[in-house]
Amino acid sequence: MTGKLFPRSFKTEYLTAVQGEGIYIYDKEGKKYLDGCSGALICNLGHCNEEIIEAVMAQMHKIEFAHTSRWRLDSVSEAAEEMASLAPAGMEYVWFTCGGSEAIEAAVKLARQYYTERDGGYSSKSTIISRWNAYHGSTLGTMAIGGSIPRRRIYAPLFKENPHIAPHYCYRCPFGLAHPSCDMRCARQLEEVIKRVGPGNVMAFIAEPIVGSSVGGLVPPDEYWPLVREICTKYDILLIADEVMTGMGRTGKNFCVNHWGVKPDIIATAKGMAAGYIPTGGVIASNWIAEEIQKGTGAFTHGHTYTGNPLSGAATAAVIKYMKKHKLVENVATLGIKFGEGLKKIGESNPIVGDVRGKGFMWGFELVRDKAAKTPFAKNVGAANVAMKECLARGLVIYPGGGMVDSIDGDNFLVAPPLITTSEQIDELLEKLELGLAAAAAKLA
Ligand code: PMP
Repeated sequence: MTGKLFPRSFKTEYLTAVQGEGIYIYDKEGKKYLDGCSGALICNLGHCNEEIIEAVMAQMHKIEFAHTSRWRLDSVSEAAEEMASLAPAGMEYVWFTCGGSEAIEAAVKLARQYYTERDGGYSSKSTIISRWNAYHGSTLGTMAIGGSIPRRRIYAPLFKENPHIAPHYCYRCPFGLAHPSCDMRCARQLEEVIKRVGPGNVMAFIAEPIVGSSVGGLVPPDEYWPLVREICTKYDILLIADEVMTGMGRTGKNFCVNHWGVKPDIIATAKGMAAGYIPTGGVIASNWIAEEIQKGTGAFTHGHTYTGNPLSGAATAAVIKYMKKHKLVENVATLGIKFGEGLKKIGESNPIVGDVRGKGFMWGFELVRDKAAKTPFAKNVGAANVAMKECLARGLVIYPGGGMVDSIDGDNFLVAPPLITTSEQIDELLEKLELGLAAAAAKLA
């Protein structure tokens, strides 16, 4: 053999997926797994959905590609309309990408171009504030913004430095405070940093509405997002919601910011958009941002070849129509309550589960060595990976994530089944998870 697949990790023993069917995946030995994390919170409609496959195939037969520098494509225009129908009012302009990192890059460039256009060709506003531990993608631009130290460490000299603020990590408050007496210290830090850097230099604050990657499932207190919105508006700073993971119904609302009635200026999304059928992502911009560019130079200076490709458009339009037809967001909102209660119950009775947090079909578990003292496992233990292996052995896939500062292979994992999951399938997932975590606790004791 001369060709070798460069693996994500040389240390992982990979399974081979040969067939998907609804919320299940079959490996090459024919073993069936419940996809309890929708791939990486992507496969919102489950696997091998005939309606989506047909929509993409039909587009293939019509036209597979025409470059957006010259051509409009019906499937892409339809996808834009469908996307805007999910977004808050006044956010109607949709820019398509091929994934989440690209969507974040596009959102950031759009923010920058908005200010240069608005301020007459030059703006001092170029700093982006984000949060420690945040993951916004793997490209150089998105890693410069992200705050995940283990991911940044190797590549750090390549990044433009941007300031970070503390995350709303209430289980281990970075300030050692407790809600509500904390008075939202973590959100107020945004204002402190803006003042330090100078509002004239800051162009955007970017954050996930509920934290997904790294320390997953962190839901902010209800005051968090309204306060962040207020601070951004006060200092003329754009608010970018990274809804790559949380968007498209995942948390029981079209977009996660809807839980708090907050309107960001730009939403970046991806994963659930085309639900894994074709690589896709997108940016939804407030009308006044697009109109500033229309009035000015007239073009967003950004254009990957595959931007707005018709196959992604066909998949996205078909996915959203399917979501609406089957009321999947409503399904998540309703079943998410039962799901959360079941997960919390598992957490309470398991000796190594320190915290269970989330909304809808997006829940994070944090594993600890000592529950009362919240003592983390030693760095080299990789507790979430142990839990993942035990769950896999019982036919359940979960999604391990990182620790706060030290390690990518940390103590956190996400459980996030496809949005089509039924009540009976939730029971099946809970049963498998309970057994898997009990076995992990026995191993790690
Ligand atoms: N932002 C967030 C919040 C994500 O979870 C991810 C992917 N895990 C990205 C950005 C990057 O998306 P992609 O992997 O599609 O480039």
